[in-house]
Amino acid sequence: MADEVARGYLITLGAKRAPNEMWRTALSQVSISRRFEWDSAHRIAGHEGACKAIHGHRYAAEFEITAPSTDSLGRVVDFGEFKSVVGAWILNNFDHTAVFDRDDQDPAVEAVIALNERMGKPVYRLAGPPTAERLVVELAQAIGPLLAARGLELVRIRLWETPNCAALWSA
Ligand SMILES: [Zn+2]
Repeated sequence: MADEVARGYLITLGAKRAPNEMWRTALSQVSISRRFEWDSAHRIAGHEGACKAIHGHRYAAEFEITAPSTDSLGRVVDFGEFKSVVGAWILNNFDHTAVFDRDDQDPAVEAVIALNERMGKPVYRLAGPPTAERLVVELAQAIGPLLAARGLELVRIRLWETPNCAALWSA
């Protein structure tokens, strides 16, 4: 009995000392994710209810990425770099401004566009009504190439328009 326990202990030790090959295989199955939040206004022209009015949301998005291999420390990428690439785009394009359909020519929309331009926070113009579905596609199409340039692959984005309603984009 004692021998079996000792053998099991040795096998465990052996597993812990397993060559890097074991880690390479296991880490190749790992993706990482990070949550981002921002404030933005929009309106859905033609909406049946309240969403046709200009209103705001505290948006949140979880980005999931992976890489063909991890770095020498066993990381897909440093979380700080992940934060700066995605966060900078969101800050410069969506945060503290509005996202409007580029064909929405309501005078109030034009006024917000002019105001935010003067405030240094230009409105983001989208090719279509800014639903959660279109916003998550826009995030994937704009940020995916920035990640790819660093050897990172965008796996999925889940964008919450409210705490209960989300749109999911998958590669
Ligand atoms: Zn809304």
